[in-house]
Amino acid sequence: MAGELQLVIDGEARSVQSGCTAWDLPERQEHALAVWVDGQVLDLKRALPQSGTVQWLTFNDFSGRQVFRHSSAHLLAQAVKRLWPEAKLGTGPALDDGFYYDVALAEPLQEGDLARIEREMKKIVGENLPIERVELSRTEALTLFDQRAETFKRQIIEGIPHDAVISAYRQGDFIDLCSGPHLAATGLIQAIKLTSVSGAYWRGNEVNPMMTRIYGTSFPSEDELTQHLVHIEDAKQRDHRKLGPSLDLFSFREDAPGFAFWHPKGNQLYRTLEEFSRRLQHDRGYQEVATPWIYRVGLWERSGHWDHYRDDMFLIERDSEVLGVKPMNCPGHALLFKGATRSYRDLPMRLAEYSPLSRFERSGTLHGLMRVRGFHQDDAHLFVSQDQISQEMFGVLDLVDVMYRAFGLTHEVVFSTRPDNYMGDLALWNQAEANLEEILRDRGLKYQINPKDGAFYGPKLDIAAIDSLGRRWQLATIQLDFQLPEKFDLHYVDADGEFKRPVMIHRAIMGSLERFLGILVEHYAGAFPLWLAPVQCVIIPITDQQISYAQEIQRKLSRYGIRSEVDDRSQKMGYKIREAQLAKVPRMLVVGGRDQTNHTVSVRTRDQGDIGAKPWPDYLHQLIEEAEMPLA
Ligand SMILES: [Zn+2]
Ligand SMILES: [Zn+2]
Repeated sequence: MAGELQLVIDGEARSVQSGCTAWDLPERQEHALAVWVDGQVLDLKRALPQSGTVQWLTFNDFSGRQVFRHSSAHLLAQAVKRLWPEAKLGTGPALDDGFYYDVALAEPLQEGDLARIEREMKKIVGENLPIERVELSRTEALTLFDQRAETFKRQIIEGIPHDAVISAYRQGDFIDLCSGPHLAATGLIQAIKLTSVSGAYWRGNEVNPMMTRIYGTSFPSEDELTQHLVHIEDAKQRDHRKLGPSLDLFSFREDAPGFAFWHPKGNQLYRTLEEFSRRLQHDRGYQEVATPWIYRVGLWERSGHWDHYRDDMFLIERDSEVLGVKPMNCPGHALLFKGATRSYRDLPMRLAEYSPLSRFERSGTLHGLMRVRGFHQDDAHLFVSQDQISQEMFGVLDLVDVMYRAFGLTHEVVFSTRPDNYMGDLALWNQAEANLEEILRDRGLKYQINPKDGAFYGPKLDIAAIDSLGRRWQLATIQLDFQLPEKFDLHYVDADGEFKRPVMIHRAIMGSLERFLGILVEHYAGAFPLWLAPVQCVIIPITDQQISYAQEIQRKLSRYGIRSEVDDRSQKMGYKIREAQLAKVPRMLVVGGRDQTNHTVSVRTRDQGDIGAKPWPDYLHQLIEEAEMPLA
């Protein structure tokens, strides 16, 4: 009907009056901070679009938090302007776990000023000022910020494209140039902590004036802020660069910057992770391959790496030619595909590889396992026909879901669409993007759109996982590629006998296994679940009399693939239990004289302590079941 909006709200199709805002809807959730409509985040009080699916964004959603933190940055700027009216404002974005604002003053602000600013911010929270969006013409915007002597804002306005809408957000007597979105009122920001100040050049350029960058974080309640500060302390304790060596998993040496030494336990962990990925992929029709890791420079020229990636590659000169060590598997898989005549019956062809990759990361950027020079990925390339794109993307997202759920990680999706400098067929782009959006909607994923942020060769999905400390890690990338098949002149024979160009999908789900393991070490604080733990079981004989019984148990465990150790040192039982507990071993089987006679084991678990004596063969079967990989 004309004048009405066709919306899907909480899964139900509804028509609502034109001009209606999310704030007006009776379904509005109490804790909603903003609203999400088909990839766009809007203020609650902004008019809703003609049609779309509406979802509520709370502080628990990444985009909801971004709105909250960015509004906190405005609040900070308002407080600074109240205290120092002559301050000139730069910009104030949200960060993953807080926000900052850059301000310029004749005298830079100091840490000692933070308490005062924080008090002023709390006052403005108490005033519960409504936050309102205003749209301005270019002239209005320039006049408004010139009147306020906001010279940096003038520079921003001058850079805004002429066809773009210019908007500002007002709260009380404060107004900031901003595209939004924002919270409905300042009163929602109940807990604030300003954390530090540093110097920052305007626009990051040292020829520009130096400003003061004020960092802070904020939450809807004091409890959540306290929890966050505890998490920060926890994160320091869990730092994988500390835990890794102390759990004897891995180490780094100056002799090989950016390459990890995997100790036996760490290597076991690594192999288990790889095996988990391999089995999940095998069930989904992936075929594992191994391709060369050094290629002649001609290949890198053809793939485009030579032009765009050369500085990040390890290069070797031999026999007066240059060879490049591979930073990724894509060209190798393209060559492998090209190596035979392919028919439509071979598609989709899903090639997986775990072989070593290397990238020349600058030494200053190396950081434990999180940024290394030598690594492996759970990498795969899917060669598909155009009409298989949807089905295959759906399958990959399903795998992401299964894989992350196995580790108790939730995830968020960012969808990057066609950039202005795109290459290839526009119709193909449009179709692929429409398909991707449909899949994301079908799967009920709350995705965010980064308009025009795709690679020139195809749209992509970036997937971030959220760990047990609420931290966000960019892990998976699913990239559609219309270009590489052109560059390598790939084709297959279709059902009609015609040669057709396949589409390539690049995808890695854990991403770098090294980095993923670093994240898991911190996520679990080293206490890995039973199926993943490098040592799953320690068998502790109470006296030397039970050593042979302990060894018999170990042999049995080993036969069924359970990784165990016998602690036969001549130490007290209590000491051995404490050591196993510190090493975060999930199960301890204590065996004394009575266990040997009755054929039992006295079981302690890492998380529950003593759970009593269990008949041995029964407990073995229980353990086998509990230690199964979460492949479902
Ligand atoms: Zn803003
Ligand atoms: Zn690739």
